[in-house]
Amino acid sequence: MVINFGAGPAKLPREVLLEVQKELVEYGSSGMSVMEMSHRGTTYVKLHEETLELARELLKVPDNYKILLMQGGGTGLFAAVAMNLIGRTGSADYLVTGSWSAKAAKEAAKFGKVNQVVPKPAKYTCVPDPKSWKLDPKASYLYYCDNETIEGVEFNFVPETNGVPLVVDMSSNIMSRPVDIKKFGVIFACAQKNIGPSGITLVIVREDLIGHQLPTTPTILDFSIVAKDNSINNTPPTFIIAVVGRVFAWIKRQGGLQKLYQDSLTKSNMIYAVVDGSKSFYYCPLEANVRSRMNVPFRIGGPSGNETLEKEFLKGAEQLGMQQLKGHRSVGGIRASLYNAVTIEEAESLRKYMLEFLAKNS
Ligand SMILES: *Cc1c(COP(=O)(O)O)cnc(C)c1O
Repeated sequence: MVINFGAGPAKLPREVLLEVQKELVEYGSSGMSVMEMSHRGTTYVKLHEETLELARELLKVPDNYKILLMQGGGTGLFAAVAMNLIGRTGSADYLVTGSWSAKAAKEAAKFGKVNQVVPKPAKYTCVPDPKSWKLDPKASYLYYCDNETIEGVEFNFVPETNGVPLVVDMSSNIMSRPVDIKKFGVIFACAQKNIGPSGITLVIVREDLIGHQLPTTPTILDFSIVAKDNSINNTPPTFIIAVVGRVFAWIKRQGGLQKLYQDSLTKSNMIYAVVDGSKSFYYCPLEANVRSRMNVPFRIGGPSGNETLEKEFLKGAEQLGMQQLKGHRSVGGIRASLYNAVTIEEAESLRKYMLEFLAKNS
């Protein structure tokens, strides 16, 4: 067994994998695999609806929001958000705090005018003070990314927009803490970080924002069509959705989002504590109030990192079965992703290894 600290596709709860394994060939009493069933048959439709219901229950989604399951990953939603919403006024505000929100802004600019709310920094290490944001009251929406998976910048507040709909990418921290849904116009999250395998994106959209799509919006990206057809307009990735449903049931058994939130603090705080206690041997470039609970990035051997030490660290980690700790190629260093499925014991193994590596090299 290895310990998987990968950023995505990421670790799934072992319990879920075993359940999926058990029903892989024959789902319930149906005599066939979920993969072989019609997406319009009663067995699949029931599973599909139960999955959506569990999402509604776990995230406490109010009745005036639709929950959609869409294809095209997080990237598909970069386009879908703009195509469905930007036509309301022709422009949108983008608050770019890392690589993913930067990509989303670039995609949206194909469909309307994109206003950058803050200037581009040399490095993404903070959320600029809201007082400095240049918000346009006529924007169709304000877009941001709640947790920048690559840089590890996580919001610890919900932006105030004075009535402009708020759109958020929660791909890498969905279901890791309770969310006040009514503050948002659209929430989306691709599954492969916290809630399942790659291949599906969870979308929560306030009903009054549906129906403003550009005429050129493709059917599969059109919120109004996907909502009307209960996310079965065309063939959905049925097997992936079955796994996501299993993950939701697992989250419920764990005690729901409040419990996962507490666990995420326990796991991430123990790693940041090693970093902070290491006299800059381990160095995290992030401002303290935006340190991600999900993706913990750090350099080894000082602020700009010592690549020899970092290689050695990764090699030693591999020997202990700790995998996928290499930082994203654009920022280098180490990144420990501590999603819902990573256990407290697994985070403790990393903590212990970091302390040993520190003692040996300083
Ligand atoms: C992974 C990720 C994406 C991109 O998801 P794809 O499914 O690969 O398109 C978008 N946003 C965030 C925050 C992510 O972590």
